[in-house]
Amino acid sequence: MLNRRHFLQTTLAATTAAPAGAQDAPDWGGSVIDIHLHFRPGVDANWNHMKGCGVTHAVLLTRAADEEKAKEAVAAHPKSYVRFSSADVGTPEGIATLRKSAAGGLLGFGEIKLHLAVDSVEMQRLYALAAELQRPVLIHFADVPQFEGEGTFTSPFNRLPAMVKAHPRTTFIGHGDGFWANVSADFANDTPYPTGKIKPGGISDKLLSDYPNMYGDMSANSGRNALARDSEFMRDFLKRHKNKLMFGSDCSCSDGRGKGQASKQPLIAGKCVARETLAALKQMTSPELFRKIAFDNAVKLMKIKF
Ligand SMILES: [Zn+2]
Ligand SMILES: [Zn+2]
Repeated sequence: MLNRRHFLQTTLAATTAAPAGAQDAPDWGGSVIDIHLHFRPGVDANWNHMKGCGVTHAVLLTRAADEEKAKEAVAAHPKSYVRFSSADVGTPEGIATLRKSAAGGLLGFGEIKLHLAVDSVEMQRLYALAAELQRPVLIHFADVPQFEGEGTFTSPFNRLPAMVKAHPRTTFIGHGDGFWANVSADFANDTPYPTGKIKPGGISDKLLSDYPNMYGDMSANSGRNALARDSEFMRDFLKRHKNKLMFGSDCSCSDGRGKGQASKQPLIAGKCVARETLAALKQMTSPELFRKIAFDNAVKLMKIKF
């Protein structure tokens, strides 16, 4: 229903939008789906980001509490969006909430970013639900806090392989500092964004090779950093996991051009993560491989019918 606040928000968005054509959005040579777009309030807030960076489709990651608002945003561009939803599965209500959300049309669970052990009873309930309902689950992994007191998420990462093995019908989509830092076998759990040459044989690389139910979300500074730190290794990595990797932004800029980017990390500060990561991927892949990572893999995995 169009309430007063909603009306004011959309009016405001309409009057502050840049004139059409003032700055051209990049053309990525075909459709691009951002599998990591956190739902922003306001019917066109997500759309404006996509338009600005040349993204045509998105997986809207929504908290269960925002689902009705997200449905409004989807209704405005029904052929461009699918929805994921998250809830605190550490509470007894969490699983029931996700079950209900799944019945309401969402295609997956995420982003799940909780201070729970990767093999906790609570997380294993979620893996079981994802298997039962055949919905992928997108998880943030981090063993190293980004600031004092932040804590860890779905930790420790080195116990993830046992979970992926124990839950073969669950589709895991790995994301976050822990997932991308562990592309290298020598990750020392000392920084969220390690730099320098990658040592072959890292946990994430092996997970993608060994388990058909493991996928990778390339979003955020974590994904961008992995691409940047050792482009020679990563060109090969992208080829080896050509059917397993999916582009995502996790960007906090408002216009798809870097405005209001909250991160101070040098690779993305003042920039749009979507633009940066897509540009890096384009440069590091063949046109066929770029198509897979930018669009085809996600559409296939999530059985999306736009
Ligand atoms: Zn995350
Ligand atoms: Zn952006």
